[in-house]
Amino acid sequence: MQQQAPRAAAIELSSVRRVYGFDSSATVALSGADLRIEPGRFVSLIGPSGCGKSTVLRLVSGLEEPDAGSVLVHGMTPAEACAAKLIGFVPQTPALLPWLSVLRNVTLPQKINPRAGRRRAAGSASPDMRELLRKAGLGEAMDKLPAQLSGGMQQRAAIVRAFGLRPEVLLMDEPFSALDEFTRESLQDQLLDLWDELKTTVLFVTHSVSEAVRLSDTVVVMAPKPGRVVDVVDIDLPRPRGERLFEERDFHAYEDLIRDRLRSAWRSTDAATVGGTNR
Ligand code: ADP
Ligand code: MG
Repeated sequence: MQQQAPRAAAIELSSVRRVYGFDSSATVALSGADLRIEPGRFVSLIGPSGCGKSTVLRLVSGLEEPDAGSVLVHGMTPAEACAAKLIGFVPQTPALLPWLSVLRNVTLPQKINPRAGRRRAAGSASPDMRELLRKAGLGEAMDKLPAQLSGGMQQRAAIVRAFGLRPEVLLMDEPFSALDEFTRESLQDQLLDLWDELKTTVLFVTHSVSEAVRLSDTVVVMAPKPGRVVDVVDIDLPRPRGERLFEERDFHAYEDLIRDRLRSAWRSTDAATVGGTNR
């Protein structure tokens, strides 16, 4: 049975404010942030360091609460959504258990959390982790220990592990930033394949404009001081988005557009900071 709630957004931030510290040392990590993400969308947050990207993920995952405004995940508070195991997270570094094989690493969370399999059993079958690993190019690596794998392969295993829990919403905080460009592109491919198959809502943080454009249905441009959403750009490019995408004029037009938005956000930030109106 599907949930009965009226069609709630997968993620909804309304007028969210988050401040760290007090008085003169306070940092406004997010101010007036509005964002609505429909189920199944792939959305990236992009912006310079300190603009509140990780703060958004911490609020959506329920690790922190907003000082003002609201955050909802499928119509629930993040704490409720976490308790219902709707939220998955892929960190910047893979954090696999070194003494377990790759296969056991990715199946362990399912064993600990059999609800994830049951919740999906009614709608769609719980994914076969061996199959997911094979799709992610880790067929030969299943029985190896993490230390026997490259960094890119380890991160791939971490992504499979997160998708394997069948979260409704997957949060990814710069998951590819530690990888070389070639590895990164191949992981983007695999991420898109998994996303396409499992229809999870993805909220993805990146510093890379081309990565954001290639992966996303929507790119959310953010600026710092105070951290805020300055633009929401829908990426109207056909999928699948393979390597040929890089030869497409439209792809580069989107890159240029987003770089332009980032630059103008910077300029307005500088002006606001100089003018002392950093609210
Ligand atoms: P991003 O992920 O975009 O780089 P963050 O969301 O991590 O940015 O941080 C936004 C702002 O809030 C930054 O100025 C950062 O220094 C500040 N900040 C984040 N976490 C804390 C904290 N726990 N205590 C104080 N300031 C913080
Ligand atoms: Mg961050």
